[in-house]
Amino acid sequence: MKKKIIIAIDGYSSCGKSTFAKAIARELNYIYIDSGAMYRAVTLYCIRNGFIEAGIPDRTAIISKLDDINIEFIFNPDIGEFETYLNSENVEKEIRSIEVSSHVSAVSKIAEVRTRMVALQRQIGVLKGIVMDGRDIGTVVFPDAELKIFMTASVDIRAKRRYDELLGKGIKVDFRDVRENIVSRDITDENRDISPLRRADDAVVLDNSRMTVEEQMVWVRSIIERKINES
Ligand code: C5P
Repeated sequence: MKKKIIIAIDGYSSCGKSTFAKAIARELNYIYIDSGAMYRAVTLYCIRNGFIEAGIPDRTAIISKLDDINIEFIFNPDIGEFETYLNSENVEKEIRSIEVSSHVSAVSKIAEVRTRMVALQRQIGVLKGIVMDGRDIGTVVFPDAELKIFMTASVDIRAKRRYDELLGKGIKVDFRDVRENIVSRDITDENRDISPLRRADDAVVLDNSRMTVEEQMVWVRSIIERKINES
């Protein structure tokens, strides 16, 4: 049997990390974990409980309730994918809303939230055979991941992709709002004090602005093969 590795995919908002990560996981029969979904689920909990006022999260209230926030990924055989559950409720659709998107970067700046999420992510990765995407997977969560990929694409292409994805899920949004949200999340994610978004020194860079998913797969297959043989 082939050795299992950890594949860490980081990069800017909406540059197709999850689509690419899912395609890799499907091909290798690995588990795909969307770490952004965890931060989104925490954010949804905060919104529902009134812990965000005028865009500012109430740190003390959030930290005091962290033990009450239970996040799980449960496999849905109908779609062949894991879905995000917050305290036993399927929140997969709700966490993609523009409201959650507009607060998630502020919530993910809170150190205690990050510590909790990183612990959960490491627990999920203990048996390897996973592809995880996010902002700090190669730098903080799995600094020893066998393969690290840092993804990027132009802002307009990313905004168009997110816009189409939301429409496809039946979520009505304004294109300008989607673009603005992406730009502002990039700025917050890159400039926060704890685990800012940055390329790990040993990550390979993929700019997929003009690449289809199949072209990205062609690019990554030989790299994966090499990393598995080296590990
Ligand atoms: O990946 P996605 O765009 O769904 O992530 C939502 C937000 O969650 C990001 O903009 C970022 O603020 C936060 N995040 C993070 N660390 C991760 C994954 C996501 O801070 N590993």
